[in-house]
Amino acid sequence: MSLPAITIENSLADAAERLAEVSDSPRLDAETLLAWVLDAPRSHLFTHPEAELNDQAARAFSAALARRHQGEPVAYITGSKEFWSLLLKVTRDTLVPRPETETLVEQALLLIPRDRPCRILDLGTGSGAIALALASERPNCEIVATDASRDALEIAKENAKQHELDNIRFVEGTWIEPVADECFDFVVANPPYVRDDDPALDELRYEPRSALAAGPDGLDAIRRIAEDAGRILAANGTLFLEHGADQGNAVADVLRQTGWTGIECINDLAGHPRVTKAAR
Ligand code: GLN
Repeated sequence: MSLPAITIENSLADAAERLAEVSDSPRLDAETLLAWVLDAPRSHLFTHPEAELNDQAARAFSAALARRHQGEPVAYITGSKEFWSLLLKVTRDTLVPRPETETLVEQALLLIPRDRPCRILDLGTGSGAIALALASERPNCEIVATDASRDALEIAKENAKQHELDNIRFVEGTWIEPVADECFDFVVANPPYVRDDDPALDELRYEPRSALAAGPDGLDAIRRIAEDAGRILAANGTLFLEHGADQGNAVADVLRQTGWTGIECINDLAGHPRVTKAAR
């Protein structure tokens, strides 16, 4: 009796069933990983469901599934993640860019003019996701991206080079420290905002804790930015902060107490309060 052939379709079905134990998107995870193993676009899986996997591909897929089953994000296994239509390199030194952060980019672009070269600061850039998205949309703007992690900055620089974006300057340091004597029209940040005791941190254990957790109420980084960013913002400048879905009111309070006005919270595509903008 011969064994059933290991085709793309039945590999995906088995993999999705197995990943359902650990992932909210098992089928998508399986497809992304198999496409990566085959070095083919995901569409290849749908046009060639009956194609058989050779031994090498079957082994590589099985190894990737084992990692995903342990909880490792798909993006760390494949080494990349798409954000704002840009394929970005990511490693365990950088947070995996999330779709909700595109809401911040979208909101910032509503205010950043196309016809006037502005100066934009991205605090805690990580893989460079926000900085690169803004740089690609506003090529005449000058963007400065900071991060306390030298390793993260190296990845962000590689990503900028890969996408031939030369209007970003990368500087190492904590929040505004390395640019304290400069002036910006826009300041944007996706800082850490998870509470130190949030059980979700266990699920996020592969990602840098310093990019996720921010004190007992998750607001330590946001408080720091709210206190400091006013000093480097031009008159009429705007601050955009990403935060947790349940932090809209708390972030507004922090901003009010630190002298900000025009505070407005915007929902992400899932309908959760996610981005707050403010002016001086
Ligand atoms: N949105 C992330 C999450 O999955 C947190 C990112 C951050 O802290 N900036 O919880």
